[in-house]
Amino acid sequence: MLISEQKPMEEILGYLNGDRSVFLLGCDGCAQASHTGGPEEVREMQGRLEAAGKTVTGSTVLDFLCERAQVKLGLVPFAGQVAAADSVLVMSCGVGIQAAAASIDKPVHPACNTLSLGGSRGEWQGSERCMECGDCVLEWTGGICPLTACTKSLLNGQCGGAKNGKCEFQPDLRDCGWHLIYERLRKLNRLQLLRDAPINIKQYSRMQPPKEIRNTPRWSLDVRA
Ligand code: SF4
Ligand code: SF4
Repeated sequence: MLISEQKPMEEILGYLNGDRSVFLLGCDGCAQASHTGGPEEVREMQGRLEAAGKTVTGSTVLDFLCERAQVKLGLVPFAGQVAAADSVLVMSCGVGIQAAAASIDKPVHPACNTLSLGGSRGEWQGSERCMECGDCVLEWTGGICPLTACTKSLLNGQCGGAKNGKCEFQPDLRDCGWHLIYERLRKLNRLQLLRDAPINIKQYSRMQPPKEIRNTPRWSLDVRA
């Protein structure tokens, strides 16, 4: 279980600034339980976006966006609506946003921050994909998390040790996370994001679990009411 919160609407609208139309993708797993990306929240988001002048080409809420194969399959009936949109807004944890970004050949925007539970981690196919940092930066990195994809969790680009796209640490096993980010942004024609990203890109204080979920001895298993 990963818990999430919706990003402020101004931040989401900032991400969508250059887009006239958007497809909404929610998650019927943890995001539904967190009240951040279930059917009701997706309907509310559609209303807010339309009030802000955006065209919503369609929406769906899939079971467990963190499973990439399921995302690909689940989006097949909506291919036309996704194709008609300038971008896709994903209302889920960081793992789901990354699974969607890896499955859709157009810009994917994060609508949520994944909050820390103080130890558990979001995983995908056996590898860590989200450190629950509470201040998701996937908007600026092509939907690939630099905290988990880069061995050093660098936020400001490649360290200089990569060779042929491989990380200087375990080059036989690991791709360089920042090489993957660069290639993803290049493919999407969005390399300008590497220049536009805010200098103060993250609030590390948000990696602490929120107080309200650690007020019982079993806090790490609790979900906020
Ligand atoms: S930036 Fe990475 S660690 Fe932070 S919420 Fe997004 S996916 Fe998770
Ligand atoms: S080589 Fe790439 S993935 Fe490895 S530490 Fe440097 S920037 Fe990070």
